[in-house]
Amino acid sequence: MKSKLVVGNWKMNGDRVRNQALLDKVSRHSPAQVECAVCVPFPYLAQAQEALAGSPVAFGAQDVSEFTEGAYTGEVSAGMLRDFACRYAIVGHSERRMLFGEDDALVARKAAAVLRVGLVPIVCVGESLAEREAGRVEAVLQRQLDALVQHLASDMLGQLVVAYEPVWAIGTGRAASPEQVQAVLGFIRQWLREHADSADEVRILYGGSVKPDTALELFALPDSDGGLIGGASLVADQFIEICEAAAIASQSE
Ligand code: PEP
Repeated sequence: MKSKLVVGNWKMNGDRVRNQALLDKVSRHSPAQVECAVCVPFPYLAQAQEALAGSPVAFGAQDVSEFTEGAYTGEVSAGMLRDFACRYAIVGHSERRMLFGEDDALVARKAAAVLRVGLVPIVCVGESLAEREAGRVEAVLQRQLDALVQHLASDMLGQLVVAYEPVWAIGTGRAASPEQVQAVLGFIRQWLREHADSADEVRILYGGSVKPDTALELFALPDSDGGLIGGASLVADQFIEICEAAAIASQSE
């Protein structure tokens, strides 16, 4: 049976000294009943690997190349992530989509590259505020999810983690309401049932201004399997409290 998953997305934050303190605390205090992971900037993968050795806390990257190897200056391949014992790679974060022009097809190719080497892609999907206000939430999600089908067979789709991250809730302190979140998580679950093997085993996360005081309600939603956490993952006590909320939510299932 799937356990809840809480993933920290450090974004472009940290340095060796601060990372060490954060990794040490998270590895010592994360609850056993849920899977916790941190996605760190590329240069700190080795530090995460060393600091988390022997700990149940997993780690991963925040992006990956669609290519396997070769003349792609600045890119980091999925095979290189595997070399550092990563378990996860985030693909299609809205910051990558908006600031670096990543489109649905590229995100799907990146997810395929990650799966090919045996790692787990955390595929981010979500609508902007303008799209929500125009009543286009499901249409946007459908488009983002349908693009995956072009590059991933149904057995591969069953191995993804999907993170619903409404763009307007990321880093704004304005989390989506539990009703808004469940409506979309339910839509994603239904999409998975139509396209993926073992759809009910796929973990669907919510991300967007999750804090210790909102986490339990969000994680207890029927289709919620945990969270993708930005700002609060940089503060050890907050991240641990959020992981504990996931453990409490799992117990009541
Ligand atoms: C994110 O960037 O994935 C995220 C969820 O950020 P925050 O928690 O800060 O809104």
